[in-house]
Amino acid sequence: MKIPMSSPDLNDADRQAVINVINTPILSMGKYTADFEKSFCDLTGAKHAIAVNSGTAGLHLCVRAAGIGAGDLVITTPFSFVASSNALLFENAIPVFVDIDPKTGNINPELVADAAKNIEKYLPRRFDSPALRAGASVAQSGKLKALLPVDVFGQPADMDAINAVAKEHGLTVIEDSCEALGATYKGKYAGTLGDFGVFAFYPNKQITTGEGGVIITSDDKAAHFMRALRNQGRAPGDTWLQHTHLGYNYRIDEMSAAMGASQMSRLDEILSKREQVAAWYESRLAEVAGVEIPFIESFTTRTSWFVYVIRFEKKINRDEMAKKLEARGIPVRPYFLPIHLQPYMVERFGWREGDFPVTEDLGRRGLAIPFSGVMTEEQVDYVCQIIREEVMKA
Ligand SMILES: *Cc1c(COP(=O)(O)O)cnc(C)c1O
Repeated sequence: MKIPMSSPDLNDADRQAVINVINTPILSMGKYTADFEKSFCDLTGAKHAIAVNSGTAGLHLCVRAAGIGAGDLVITTPFSFVASSNALLFENAIPVFVDIDPKTGNINPELVADAAKNIEKYLPRRFDSPALRAGASVAQSGKLKALLPVDVFGQPADMDAINAVAKEHGLTVIEDSCEALGATYKGKYAGTLGDFGVFAFYPNKQITTGEGGVIITSDDKAAHFMRALRNQGRAPGDTWLQHTHLGYNYRIDEMSAAMGASQMSRLDEILSKREQVAAWYESRLAEVAGVEIPFIESFTTRTSWFVYVIRFEKKINRDEMAKKLEARGIPVRPYFLPIHLQPYMVERFGWREGDFPVTEDLGRRGLAIPFSGVMTEEQVDYVCQIIREEVMKA
């Protein structure tokens, strides 16, 4: 049995939507982009949705709209996909990492509160900023501007606690919901919980557009600015060759937007299928000694399953286990390799092994196993059978 790591959940209507676009001459900046954007406002109640060509681009536009620039400090998590921190580096801002909750892998709100109060304690070992170069002390060198929590693996971060810190210190909150489309926190949609929310649609995400992303916000001024930046800096009233701002080409194309709009029209069905697969895994893996299954917080009122990450007990070597599973035809992936230990991060900020022990522990023990909404119960059975056999031998 050949089981893929992940698979998009596309149906004939999704495919037909793309064909409809390529039978017209309008392949960018047309009605499908508008429809796709509207589907996010309809789902989440956000006032504005701005479609872009990746989640990373969406995060970058939020960083620009929040006015985060060179030397500014942003509290975020090292247990994430690298894009959440990279969006800060693009503007030469400094990610100030705090460790995570060991159960969920989400940013630890108590550490966020402490870091906002005592930022010097949390600064990287070395960093560069214009203020430092001009002679400021490390403590005065950067201004704490924002919080950037990530809704890890489809479960929202503890956003009430995070927003309370933001309010106390006057900070912007950028919620990286790239793994959590349709998840809810105390009944409210992921992505709506901060000032900005970002979703992503690479083929392993809950819905896909091939490549794509969407930003949601209720801030009118920021929304207009991000629309301009997405489109080469053209502000309303600019002609094709007038550019009010330094912008980017972060536009999504109409084929992608049409696929996305079609996928969004059956989001609930797509998420329900993923919930079913997660439930099959849970029922088969919960009792396997040596294996921990994902923990869901009581404030998570809906998990939007992105990946299914199991953790091995410390005495089981995850990398050995990964090799054995791969050898038996089960694709697996360590999730996540901590951001602070990525080579370019070490080089730039001097982070070391041991700096964020919970992140490193989960990074060492976590393994994503095959997961998608199109997996059959038979496939789940097969994966679990092999995991059980290999864990017994370990
Ligand atoms: C997928 C993802 C992104 C953005 O991904 P793109 O590939 O740029 O669309 C950002 N943050 C997190 C946490 C993600 O999982």
